[in-house]
Amino acid sequence: MIGLILFGLAVARLTPFVWVWAKKKKIVRVYEEKHRDFEALLCRHNPYFKSLAKAGRERFLRRSLLFMELKKFEYIDLEPDEIMPLLISAAAVQLTFGLENFLLDYFHTIYILKDKYRYGVYNMPFEGHVSEEGIYLSWNHFVREYTDYSDGQNVGLHEMAHALTYVNFTVQNGRDNAFYHHFNDFSLVARPIFERMQTGETNVLDSYAATNYQEFWAVCIETFFERSNSFRRQLPELYFALCSLLNQDPLTPEKILISEPQA
Ligand SMILES: [Zn+2]
Repeated sequence: MIGLILFGLAVARLTPFVWVWAKKKKIVRVYEEKHRDFEALLCRHNPYFKSLAKAGRERFLRRSLLFMELKKFEYIDLEPDEIMPLLISAAAVQLTFGLENFLLDYFHTIYILKDKYRYGVYNMPFEGHVSEEGIYLSWNHFVREYTDYSDGQNVGLHEMAHALTYVNFTVQNGRDNAFYHHFNDFSLVARPIFERMQTGETNVLDSYAATNYQEFWAVCIETFFERSNSFRRQLPELYFALCSLLNQDPLTPEKILISEPQA
């Protein structure tokens, strides 16, 4: 009887590892079969991916496939299409490209809506939000804002930025140790700029950043990727604080600053 219980416990402990192992095996197969198609789609729709060199593209696509495989995508009022989970996963992978843990583990479900939507008691319609139930995105706005990759508006990156701080600080399920420990260093630079924006100072960041510190963080991410040059020129200290925190510089071809040791 005790043997049976111990066997049961061992199976329960091993099941998640077997599950992830099976998923990883599947991804190797999907990568071999589809990487050319997926690369073409990413080149067309994600300028960050397009700017990567060959090795970076491979790392990016493998990470995107794993992210996509481990999440459930729920489609609300629109027909599912393979491009949707691919491009949304790519937004998460772009933000976390220099981090070790990029899976935003807490979030099992990503909800894709056709257009803006009502949420809670708010009067303004939403393009996206993050809550304990999941990550929500308007597909129309996701695509439109990636298409114009120069205005500092990108709902995909914005919501993934919220999701990244959520998994690190709110629920601590999906924490990246380096990100978690360096966030204070980022805030030492960021908080005074945020406080000056709250008193009316303007800069390269959209004025929405002055709403609260969470929105400041998410707007920083949008600007960091979409208007990297202006950001670095106007607010170099903040730009380089973000580079250190995310372990990447979007203005370099390789992006990643310090590579993980090879296993
Ligand atoms: Zn926000």
